Amino acid sequence: MAQEDVFKKLVAHCKEYGFVFQSSEIYDGLGAVYDYGQNGVELKNNIKKYWWDSMVLLHENVVGLDSAIFMHPTIWKASGHVDAFSDPLIDNKDSKKRYRADVLIEEQLAKFEDKIEKEVEKAKKRFGETFDEKQFRETNGRVLENQQKWNDLQARFVKALNDSNLDELKQIIIDQEIVCPVSGTRNWTDVRQFNLMFSTDMGAAADGAMKIYLRPETAQGIFVNYLNVQKTGRMKIPFGIAQIGKAFRNEIVARQFIFRMREFEQMEMQFFVRPGSELEWFQKWKQTRMNWHQAIGFGSDNYRFHEHDKLAHYANAAVDVEYKFPFGFKEVEGIHSRTDFDLSQHQQFSGKKIQYFDPELNESYVPFVVETSIGVDRMFLQIMAASYSEEEIVSEDGKKDMRVVLRIPAPLAPIKLAVLPLMKKDGLAEKAREIIDDLKFDFNCQYDEKDSIGKRYRRQDAIGTPFCVTVDHITMEDNTVTIRYRDTMLQDRVAISDLKNIISGEVSLKKLFAKL
Ligand code: ATP
Repeated sequence: MAQEDVFKKLVAHCKEYGFVFQSSEIYDGLGAVYDYGQNGVELKNNIKKYWWDSMVLLHENVVGLDSAIFMHPTIWKASGHVDAFSDPLIDNKDSKKRYRADVLIEEQLAKFEDKIEKEVEKAKKRFGETFDEKQFRETNGRVLENQQKWNDLQARFVKALNDSNLDELKQIIIDQEIVCPVSGTRNWTDVRQFNLMFSTDMGAAADGAMKIYLRPETAQGIFVNYLNVQKTGRMKIPFGIAQIGKAFRNEIVARQFIFRMREFEQMEMQFFVRPGSELEWFQKWKQTRMNWHQAIGFGSDNYRFHEHDKLAHYANAAVDVEYKFPFGFKEVEGIHSRTDFDLSQHQQFSGKKIQYFDPELNESYVPFVVETSIGVDRMFLQIMAASYSEEEIVSEDGKKDMRVVLRIPAPLAPIKLAVLPLMKKDGLAEKAREIIDDLKFDFNCQYDEKDSIGKRYRRQDAIGTPFCVTVDHITMEDNTVTIRYRDTMLQDRVAISDLKNIISGEVSLKKLFAKL
């Protein structure tokens, strides 16, 4: 199936099975804002718990925080967001559609990459076992030609970004003959900078009101609480502060479902270190975070690091963790060495001393910071994309059938088990309820008595429930049930009293932590 079709199906599936809804849908929706439904919210909470526990529970020197969304406006001046948190936008005069100029050029770069990969794939098929990929990449004419085009464009693009040269960005779009995907024309406006922060007014009276911003990242809430946490927690450097919370960006282009939203959620950790040790910590966190991703089990080939072409004004090193989505490798998480920029700026703008007295060095300094910043929603999309699978199966009456199954790793699955009475009568329904009453304090359980058992299995497969427990007439005689495993569809007969053990071994987050 083409990757675009997979993505379309995934979006439809998210809605049909109560994972993600368009915000304000009955009013025709609100662009790039989404709501999480009954299953989505459970998956989202599990992702957050996996992240939070891996940071706060497993690291003695990382503590949590929950800072407010509204903050003093000067914070955003100090952080540089008021002046520089913007994206270069460009409009197509015919379609009236708006684009990010940098994204248009990145997509053009990806086209050259795709061409190269297609040549390699073709050759792989042609030469079979004898294929020497390295040699092919170094000598094939078409690969070299596309690689040269990529190199030239990349160099020009990075220079334009670093020089903040908006005219040059437009010129690149013209020279590369990039067309608007909607109108198909090259009738572009000039490139302009567009600030991504939302603002609102705080206070009642017009003259007394203060313009405040909806935070575009959670990180600043951590920086301005650095002293509070360090002092009250008696934290010693190196230490980290972790936070999960909403962030808001008035994104210019809001396509690709929950990949790019205007209201989203971040999981950020700021790690405060001694000046000079930040690049070492950067390397450590880079590896720690990649391990966290790979422990989920979607295959290491689907992840890669991407070094930033242009470092943000505050960073001396930065890398993204990218995942191979149906629409290509894209950023899920950023790991940034933010130097002492943020704390120094807040020190300057607030006039308060923000320093750490290091007893080992017997001196005070402004700590350096290494940040790990990941979007909950992008993780959510990654898990849905990696888990979605359509499979041909043979149904109970011997007919060929299809099943859609979400192979969500059991510790993250929204519902851990469904308890299904084979029929409502003969006390089976009551027995099923008894089982749920016993297990509901440990696992998220669901009761379902409607339709044939086959249909009920399909429904649970479609939301990724790893276990289905069926109560039948034998259950009434010997207190055993069948347990059906989502991935293999195999069934075992087990004692009701063993259920808790069997399930807890599989659904505990410890299963993922053991791989870290
Ligand atoms: P992009 O280049 O895709 O716009 P970014 O580099 O601006 O992302 P960061 O500022 O580093 O992103 O934010 C950290 C993380 O927050 C990202 O890796 C991503 O997972 C998430 N994130 C950022 N913007 C959005 C958004 N508009 N919608 C959903 N998640 C987002």
